This record gives sequence, C-alpha cells and structure tokens, in this order.
Amino acid sequence: MSTLFLRTLRDDPADAEVPSHKLLVRAGYIRRAAPGVYEWLPLGLRVLRAIENVVREEMNAIGGQEILLPALLPREPYETTGRWDEYGQALFRLQDRKGTDMLLGPTHEELFTLLVKGEYSSYKDLPLTLYQIQTKYRDEERPRAGILRGREFVMKDSYSFDTSDAGLEESYRAHRAAYQKIFGRLGIDYVIVAATSGAMGGSASEEFLGTSEVGEDTFVQCLESGYAANVEAVVTPPGDERSIEGLPAAVAHDTGDTPTIATLVDWANGALDREVTAADTLKNVLVKIRRPGGEWEITGIGVPGDREVDFKRLEASVEPAQVELLTDEDFAANPALVRGYIGPNGVKAAGGTYLVDPRVVTGTAWITGADEPGKHVVDLVVGRDFTPDGTIEAAEVREGDLAPDGAGVLVAAKGIEIGHIFQLGRKYTDAFELDVLGEDGKPVRVTMGSYGVGVSRLVAVIAEQRHDDKGLCWPREVAPFDVHVVIANKDEAAIAGAQDLVAQLDAAGVEVLFDDRKASPGVKFKDAELLGMPTVVVVGRGFADGKVEVRDRSTGTADEVPVAGAVEAILAAVRG
Ligand code: ATP
Ligand code: MG
Repeated sequence: MSTLFLRTLRDDPADAEVPSHKLLVRAGYIRRAAPGVYEWLPLGLRVLRAIENVVREEMNAIGGQEILLPALLPREPYETTGRWDEYGQALFRLQDRKGTDMLLGPTHEELFTLLVKGEYSSYKDLPLTLYQIQTKYRDEERPRAGILRGREFVMKDSYSFDTSDAGLEESYRAHRAAYQKIFGRLGIDYVIVAATSGAMGGSASEEFLGTSEVGEDTFVQCLESGYAANVEAVVTPPGDERSIEGLPAAVAHDTGDTPTIATLVDWANGALDREVTAADTLKNVLVKIRRPGGEWEITGIGVPGDREVDFKRLEASVEPAQVELLTDEDFAANPALVRGYIGPNGVKAAGGTYLVDPRVVTGTAWITGADEPGKHVVDLVVGRDFTPDGTIEAAEVREGDLAPDGAGVLVAAKGIEIGHIFQLGRKYTDAFELDVLGEDGKPVRVTMGSYGVGVSRLVAVIAEQRHDDKGLCWPREVAPFDVHVVIANKDEAAIAGAQDLVAQLDAAGVEVLFDDRKASPGVKFKDAELLGMPTVVVVGRGFADGKVEVRDRSTGTADEVPVAGAVEAILAAVRG
C-alpha cells in the first residue's frame, strides 16, 4: 500500500446519493471523469475483472464463444433496422472527418447478425452462441449513482442463433441457467421477473433484478407461489363474468359539475340509495396510438375508477406502437368526446377503439360518462349496453392485488436490473435476411436470442448489497485481494514477521494487500474496513507474544492465532 495508486477519502463525494457510489469513490475504486463516465483505479479494476471472469467462465460453460466487436460503428446496419432513429437521444452519434455518420454502440444485435450472415450458410453450423464483454455507450437521460447507470459501461452481451423455435428456447434456457450460476457465484440477492406482458406468453423475456432499495425497477411478487414480475408485465386476473339477465336498466342522470371521479362519487352517494365507491365507476382515459408506419388512432381505455392508468404499463402493452394522451386540439377535432363525461359509446361514436381493463367483464355494471356535459349513466352493463373492442393491461398494479396465479396477493419491492434474457425471434434476421440452407436444401430464416449482463453495474450492485456503515464487504469471489495484512507495530521484529507472513501467503497463491505504510494503526484499521477485503490480518502488539489477529470483515469476528500456525489459519479462512 505504500506504493499502491490509492487515496481514500474521508468525506462522501458531493454528487453521491447511494451507498455504493459513496463507498466506491471514498475507497478509491473509481473516479468520475464526466457525468456517467468513470475511471477504474487499481482496486476497482480488480473487482471488475473478477466479475468478468465469472461471467466468462459460465458463458464458456454453455458453449458461448467470446469475440470482441468495436464500439465505434457504422450507421448503415442501424439504419436497416430503424434503430438509428428509434434509439432517440440515447444514441451517441458522431461523424468522421469525411462527414460519414457513425455511432458508439449501445448494444450490438445488428453487428452480430451481419457477422454471422457473412460467415455461416448452413443449418449444420447452428446452433451458435457468440458473446463479448465490451464497453457500451448510451447517453442516458439521467446517469445515476456512479457506475450503476453510466453513459459508458461494460456489458456482457451474447446472441444465440438457431434454426427453430425449439432451438431458440433451448439456447434461452441455457442462458437462464448460466445467469443463475453467475449471480449465485457472485453472492447476489436477486429475483427473476417476467419482463413482457401477456400477449407474448411471459416466457419470451425475463429480467434478473438485484434486490435493493435504491433500485429504479419496481417489481411485484407473490410470496405464496414465488411468482415475480416487472410491474409492466403483470397480467391482471380477469373479473368473474356474470349473467346480464334481470340487471337494472341503464339510466342517464344529470350529475351537475362532476368532471372527476371524486365529484362523481360524491354525487352518487347523495343521489343513489346505495353506497358507491370509486371502484364502482368506470374511468375512461383517452389516448392516441400509432403503430409503426401507421396513423394516430384514438383509443379509449376504461379502468375501474379507483385506479389510475399506469403510462409505463400502457406503453409496454402497445409496444412497438407509440402512445400519447389526447391533446386539446384532438378533443376540439372530436366533438363526440365530451371531456369529463366520456362514456364507452362516445369513444365509438368518435370512431375510436375502446379497450378495457380485464376486470371490466360481461355482466358488470358501471357508473360512467353519458357523453353529454353534466351527465353520467348508472348501471351501464358490459355485454348489454356496450361491448369493448378488447382488453388492455394499463391500470396501475397495487400491493394487495391478487397475483395472476391466484395463489396470494402481490407485494412490491425495488430492484436493479443486472441481466436480461430475451427471445428476439426473427426481428433482426428478417432485417438482414439471415438464412441458412436447411436439411431439405431450402433456406431457413434464423431465429435469435439476445442476452445481457451489466458487468460494471454489478460492481455497484454487489457494493450496494454488501457494505456496512464502515465500508465495503466484498464476497471472496470478487474481492480485489483475498487478504489484507496490516502492520500495527513499529517493532523491527514485527515488521519482519509481517513481511515473512506476506511472502508465505504469496507463495501459497493467496493475493495479499499489504499495508506497510508509515501511518497510525487507527488510520490503517479504518482503511481496511473501508476497502473491504474479506480477511484482515493484524500484526500488532500481540506479535511479541507470538500472536497475530485474523479478522473477518463481514461478520466482524476476530481470532488470535499463533504466528507459527498463522498461514494455515489464514488459508483455511480464504479457502472456506
Ligand atoms: P435499464 O432498464 O436499467 O436501463 P436496459 O433495459 O436498458 O436497462 P439492456 O439493454 O437489457 O438494459 O442491457 C443489458 C444490461 O446492461 C442490463 O440488464 C443492465 O444490467 C446493463 N445496463 C443497461 N444500461 C446500463 C447503464 N446505463 N449503465 C450500466 N449498466 C447498464
Ligand atoms: Mg436502459
């Protein structure tokens, strides 16, 4: 440590909000170069490399072959797939000296597809999994928490190529299992959540989320069954259909100035001889949706009035179409839509599509807009008074909602996305016409999977999950060094003894960080706690009595061991 390129800091950096960011900077693992752009110092780089190696071993174990593509990429392939524009402001675009457009790769589906197309031409060559551990660039809107969300970051991205859907499923399963091994070895607490909504069947894409209060992803789980899903992917269990026989007729009422659900509920509780809550009303939210290459189309979304429309869920449901709320001009252009008093039939009258939450089923009766100012209709029955054009997952998901598998209720938690596995299918192979000759001599369109691990983000996620108020606590698998030996004794014999101990550990293949600095024991102990090596060995006062102290950083326990048996005791601790 007397020569190590390391300066620890006593104070938290001013821009840091989350513990991992504060500690990684204070402990001298990383330094900021620009917003979302970080420098890796010796200790940080060792953690990053250790994580890379775990990822590499497990990718190799499923037959992945490592390659390395450039970060600086030509525009054309991204033009072919439409992503040059679709990626929006997150894409770093630049020009070379001749004025040719280029980009810094945010993810590499295009290049991998083209690469395979250039090399392979027969079904006999497949299946194939290629991967890289490489630096990605995304001009994130909100770079955050140091390396947790960077604009330059390291990702492992792999791509599988198969000739059949069954083959793709097999490649996907292999990746899923490899990811479980990777995150298991790294000692991360994580959940696997469904990442796409109902239409896709839920198995086409899953995310691995490291559980953490500072996470930006909200997921829900059912503790009874283990069901877990991203909020965007939650499938609402449909309500119970009922018979429409004998239900009271729908009646329109003058409800006065009641443009909101709250004012409508107040009116109903005064005017109707039953108790009404927001859940008895049908809220109609007007949006416009545009499919790729299409026109904007008006769509009404009906949800029980006690729930908001969750725009992220709505976006996920209509993807790849875009969705926006109706503007004042849109309302002005569609007089059938009476703001504050819109009903299902008004949406249809305006030529729009009317979609409902899955709870709005045949035989349910609602209080909703009557499509005239100051009027609402009571007992409007689904399947009798109106028929929706379909259902849509757009209503907010709440804790306490029934889980889709019916096993219990949902509880919410926060996570950080550490990995993503995705059955892409033929989106990119269609764009580049990647075919191979099949067994029957006819061309077969290849099908692809795409799989990412946030390698640099993992450094922060582990730090986030493994720290205390004194500093970092690395798991052995990724710790920069196995053992941190601290000399806390000015005596010549003790110094020589510590050097001898370090030499023996080194000879035994143990990686040792040796605090040989001329600093006070207090300063050294504080740094040892901040830096977070799993085992700390103190050569201190006890050395005169033939003793050294072996401390476990994460449990805080300390054992006095005789100098003569110290190497064995430390090896036992290191090798578990
Ligand atoms: P997020 O929702 O966190 O933005 P993403 O959906 O954009 O992630 P992918 O495109 O699937 O992520 O990328 C694969 C992995 O790369 C993610 O699971 C994540 O671990 C990591 N990653 C993505 N963006 C960043 C970033 N800005 N900084 C660090 N790691 C990132
Ligand atoms: Mg992102």
